[in-house]
Amino acid sequence: MTEVRWGVATDVGRVRTTNQDRALAAATLFAVADGMGGHQGGEVAAELAVRTLGDRFFQDPTESGLREAVRAANAAVWERGQADAALRGMGTTLTAVAVVGDPPEERLELVNVGDSRTYLLRGDRLLQLTNDHSLVEEMVRNGEISPAEAAVHPGRHILTRAIGERPDVDIDAWLLVPATGDRLLLCSDGLINEVQDREMAELVRRSRDPQGASEALVARATDNGGSDNITVVVVEVVDGARPGRESTSRSDSRPMLLEAVTGGNEAAGPGGPTLGGVSPGGREAGGAEAVGRGSGPADADAVG
Ligand code: MG
Repeated sequence: MTEVRWGVATDVGRVRTTNQDRALAAATLFAVADGMGGHQGGEVAAELAVRTLGDRFFQDPTESGLREAVRAANAAVWERGQADAALRGMGTTLTAVAVVGDPPEERLELVNVGDSRTYLLRGDRLLQLTNDHSLVEEMVRNGEISPAEAAVHPGRHILTRAIGERPDVDIDAWLLVPATGDRLLLCSDGLINEVQDREMAELVRRSRDPQGASEALVARATDNGGSDNITVVVVEVVDGARPGRESTSRSDSRPMLLEAVTGGNEAAGPGGPTLGGVSPGGREAGGAEAVGRGSGPADADAVG
């Protein structure tokens, strides 16, 4: 049976005008949300999203249940925004990981909407598992700008997808076979903007436990400037479906690790592109080059 332990750290609560990040860590479900919208809208959206996600997922803690829970979170934020003029237009990112399936076939299911991220540290490699739904990320995908240019682009905060901005939402979803020793890092952009991938990898690898790792990351981001809320959840697979440390071969690259599953568009079928036509990307964190932006059948191979 897959066992995990986890740690959570955030600077939310530090004296600021707004605190728009929220985290959730509950046995088999982990999430980070980063809200947006004036008049407390960002805080309301993030809070409502993680609460709805948790309530709904534990009613049906399955693969499809997680995606349903994200849809429910989207609907809750959308409806609240429609009902209250002061909150109209609010939204939030949401990145989440859940343990789903029955032993010994358990999987980690990842879902993402927006530009918070989930990374995987396996062995010595840090891989960014999620794609950002941001304008600059699309420009990078289209070859219009480089990742380095994207990091400092004035439009880097503009999202192309968010929870609560429409009545329905496209969800990126993947399955991962957990390996003993895996550390998953869920974070808001407050971390990403302040701490380089290499530094993140080092801090997570060096920490004795997930709580220490999450605190070290938030401390580093705060030291580096911390102009935005910083929220981090680190989940460690204590006992996985796979032995650890087998990461030196083909499972090193993200497309080989992840099986894409469909979100709302069930017709696309397993192994097809994720919703919204976004191909699973694949960047090796800490390296400048892309590790194959493949999609489709190749992504389904490595799982199982
Ligand atoms: Mg933020």
